Amino acid sequence: VGTVEYLIRLDDACPTMDREKWAAVERVLVSHGVAPIVGIVPDNADPVLAPCPPDSGFWDTARGWLKRGWHIALHGYRHQLRVAHRGLVPIGKLAEFTGLPWSEQRQRIREGVRILRSHDLSPQVWIAPAHGFDLGTLQALREESTITVISDGLSRRPFRHLGFTWLPQQLWRPRRMGSGLWTICLHPNGMQEHDIAALERFLSSRPGGFPTVQEAAARAVAFGAEEVLFGAAFTTLLAVKNVLRGRK
Ligand SMILES: [Zn+2]
Repeated sequence: VGTVEYLIRLDDACPTMDREKWAAVERVLVSHGVAPIVGIVPDNADPVLAPCPPDSGFWDTARGWLKRGWHIALHGYRHQLRVAHRGLVPIGKLAEFTGLPWSEQRQRIREGVRILRSHDLSPQVWIAPAHGFDLGTLQALREESTITVISDGLSRRPFRHLGFTWLPQQLWRPRRMGSGLWTICLHPNGMQEHDIAALERFLSSRPGGFPTVQEAAARAVAFGAEEVLFGAAFTTLLAVKNVLRGRK
């Protein structure tokens, strides 16, 4: 029986985020000593991520996260989602990146990294908006960033694949799991009080370890049969869930 570990991931940080909700989530994580991966949209153009007017203090807040040991992730460039073909991770039908010409992907990565660096934030992790990215995105990341870690993929453990270390992301709410590394992706902008309370209860229950990105990445194994099988089973599970959801 192996150990169970969790990473917490917070998506959609940008100047127009819901500051009060983010602060509430931050308080819970800090009180439990958990440092999440936080995905920052460098130049947001998605109205869904703009529930509030722009906060001139946002970049100070983000540098504060970095000082706390949080892991800064590049979460796309403008979060402009459109319907796209299936990318490397078979979740959903939307993407900012999948299917764009490589030169355009490269330009978006370059500009996104430039914006974050201009605020003294050098991203070390990639989080694709809506899980949408392809081989061209990986090539653009190689050319235009120092990112070596991808927060995505369906597996039970971290793995090395296509020249990157993948920290799989399988959960969208706190849930106790069996052995493995589980990333729980949260969207603070959309969290209600009961969601924040559920996070607090989960962390208080001491469900397992909370490694840093570096610790998790150091345990990555070569991509192999187990990753393929788990991915196929999980994709089927997600498809069934989507069908059930559609019937409601
Ligand atoms: Zn997002």
